[in-house]
Amino acid sequence: MTNILVTGGAGYIGSHACKALAQAGYTPVTYDNLITGWQDAVKFGPFEQGDLLDRARLDEVFTKYRPAAVMHFAALSQVGEAMSQPGRYWTNNVAGSLNLIEAAVAANCLNFVFSSTCATYGEHDNVVLDEDTPQLPLNAYGASKRAIEDILRDFEAAYGLNHVIFRYFNVAGADPEGDVGEFHRPETHLVPLMLDAIDGKRDGLTVFGTDYDTPDGTCIRDYVHVCDLVDAHVLGLNWLEQGKGSRVFNLGTGSGFSVMEVIGHSKAVTNREVPYSIGPRRAGDCTKLVSGSTRAELELGWEPKRSTLETMIGDAWRWHQNGNYEK
Ligand code: UDP
Repeated sequence: MTNILVTGGAGYIGSHACKALAQAGYTPVTYDNLITGWQDAVKFGPFEQGDLLDRARLDEVFTKYRPAAVMHFAALSQVGEAMSQPGRYWTNNVAGSLNLIEAAVAANCLNFVFSSTCATYGEHDNVVLDEDTPQLPLNAYGASKRAIEDILRDFEAAYGLNHVIFRYFNVAGADPEGDVGEFHRPETHLVPLMLDAIDGKRDGLTVFGTDYDTPDGTCIRDYVHVCDLVDAHVLGLNWLEQGKGSRVFNLGTGSGFSVMEVIGHSKAVTNREVPYSIGPRRAGDCTKLVSGSTRAELELGWEPKRSTLETMIGDAWRWHQNGNYEK
């Protein structure tokens, strides 16, 4: 069996990636410090607890498993927190990733799949974002991810580190079989917060701003199902295995939905009211982030299968009602 080191394998996207890797015949080895992840989410391969900043521990894990590739999900990922505590983002995300990348190169593990973000693009009025759009991040989260992309390019030039960079748009949904799902504490993301509001686990949802330059005044995002997203990662791994070289891919569907539209769909899917109120803008939010690229479809053969709002919200709702890691 081929081992793949999955950092952040106990987190939302990483745990879904581990399932996809296991289904594709790989052994996912989770490396996670459990600060935002859940050990109960590690179901598809071995677990090694450790921090990205702990180089000795990373070296130990590389020596023990000799992974053929790294999938690097582990990161702090909240825009609001990044604005108020930027140092944590530069330390955990950038210094931590540099440590991991150096450990991978030292172990001669030269295939690397990296979770980046559309937040690296920043604000581009009325432009669909393709992989060549200039990266002008508005917040420390996006800036930290852009810096890691730069590190990967430098390490490719110096040491031949082959990498696939995926710039995610807004990830939502859950494993339809209910093995894993989205579970953050604290939760900051729109879909799970809305589901909490719908079934009374929180007082209501606050819509962050209705004065944006969009048809209904709320921010527009491109939502992609977590299962489609992780399918792309397996294709990205295959791409590297085939020696096709380093490449950047956006992972979005090209369709944007406003916060109010997501609320409307949630009402329809759950057949329940969404209690919400209007609040001020959240610092660091862009007006519109929609993927304008079909590169992943054309070059990787990626086909999003579950990325309609109905399916994403339906899968998330089922998970929300039946599963979490606190039980
Ligand atoms: N949002 C909101 N209320 C919330 C959480 C999010 O109105 O309680 C909005 C947020 O301003 C953004 C969209 O929902 O326009 C998606 O936010 P999320 O935090 O889910 O993802 P992000 O776009 O920050 O990656």
